[in-house]
Amino acid sequence: MKSIILIAPPAAGKGTEAEQIRVDYNIPSISTGDLLRDVIKGNDEKALMIKDILNSGALVPDDIVLELLKNRILQSDCENGYILDGFPRTVSQAEAYDKMLEELNRDTGLVIVLDIDKEIAKSRISGRFTCPSCKRIYNVNTGDMKPMQSGLCDDCMVELIQRSDDNPETYDERYNTYLEKTAPLISFYDKKGIVYHVDSSKSPSITHAQVIEILEKHND
Ligand code: AMP
Repeated sequence: MKSIILIAPPAAGKGTEAEQIRVDYNIPSISTGDLLRDVIKGNDEKALMIKDILNSGALVPDDIVLELLKNRILQSDCENGYILDGFPRTVSQAEAYDKMLEELNRDTGLVIVLDIDKEIAKSRISGRFTCPSCKRIYNVNTGDMKPMQSGLCDDCMVELIQRSDDNPETYDERYNTYLEKTAPLISFYDKKGIVYHVDSSKSPSITHAQVIEILEKHND
């Protein structure tokens, strides 16, 4: 399976889609946001600095993110491809990632862009909850994403939590950061002829059906 880069505005459904690809194609899903949220569980100076950045909706410095990512993709479960959820976020990260792949003799793979209107994505954040253990994402406002038991993960039975940056004020900042820094990646990868667009404004299953169609055409 090729590696997959998911590009989308915040709360467009990247995490949910990444999880479905992970299950269907048996490749790991790597969220740099999750890697960073694991780091901020610590109490050292670096953790506190990263925590402030996450809560502001700005981007964490490239060297920190690149080191976390490199350590992750060198793990053996990434040998047959992986899904990147939330990386690269900027053209400079994409350039650094190209270099990393060249050194590791690996291919960029495919880029899937989840297209969605800002207001639809923003309306999703108030209902978004995550399992702190397995990271599964739920949405209490969306029929097929509600947990079976209110407030509990279906798989781990752990209490679901809401991300501290999932609020309307931080959302606007994160969305602006996306437009300014991440959206230019689409033309960066378009030049390599590896970009595919999907409409992510409907249900997760409709999004996933479109993604499967693309992946099946490129499954080698
Ligand atoms: P996410 O879980 O992808 O929505 O990311 C949550 C937050 O983590 C972002 O708002 C950023 O502060 C930080 N973050 C995640 N991925 C990256 C990245 N590739 N580069 C810089 N900051 C990131």
